[in-house]
Amino acid sequence: MTQLQQLELLDTHPMFTGKCPQCGYEFDRYWTARVHWDCQNSECGWMDDTV
Ligand SMILES: [Zn+2]
Repeated sequence: MTQLQQLELLDTHPMFTGKCPQCGYEFDRYWTARVHWDCQNSECGWMDDTV
């Protein structure tokens, strides 16, 4: 993965947007302390692969 792709990924990362980049699920504020940002929408299945 190129550096640009990583930057684009971070730009849509729920850590910054507060939402799942795939389904738009809104993460709870409590999650800001988390390391992993796997989507909590069981029908989505998006998983954080940046860490
Ligand atoms: Zn999702």
